[in-house]
Amino acid sequence: MERVGIQYGTALALVCNRPKDFIDSLAEKAAEAMLNPGGDILQLTESLGGRIHYRNMFEDDVDVDTIFVHRKNDFDIVLPDHSTPRRDRFTVAHELGHFFLHAWMGQRPLKAARNGSDRAEWEANWFAAGLLMPKAKFKAAHKEKRSLSWLADKFDVSEHATKIRCSVLGLSI
Ligand SMILES: [Zn+2]
Repeated sequence: MERVGIQYGTALALVCNRPKDFIDSLAEKAAEAMLNPGGDILQLTESLGGRIHYRNMFEDDVDVDTIFVHRKNDFDIVLPDHSTPRRDRFTVAHELGHFFLHAWMGQRPLKAARNGSDRAEWEANWFAAGLLMPKAKFKAAHKEKRSLSWLADKFDVSEHATKIRCSVLGLSI
């Protein structure tokens, strides 16, 4: 998926080093502009110039690059072909984190592997949580005090991701 003639930086080399709250707010603004709670993230990806590919790969294939940002609004995301729609959503949101935070929407070519645990991967995860479960809307939904599964359904994320979001925002589970 790499293209000849493009110098790809790594996510870690292009890490943005902004505080977690800053990235959370940025993702919330992005959601405000582009993605309703539970909205179609595949369509959003397409509208940003991204293509999704499915490939047979394993959880421990950590060295396999899963996003290639080639140039402005031109990128490829590779998903495992054995996942679930909600895990895919989070993965795509994570890769969009790399696209916005590290590749500057393609101004800086980038490739990144999955499952890393360095600073750039945390940033992409913070962005993903903020994009799929934007702070203000998530807090408002949480106030309705329905079940965890209702919250997860509303934002179309896993219950696991919902629990983590609650704890990050200091909300009861
Ligand atoms: Zn990543």
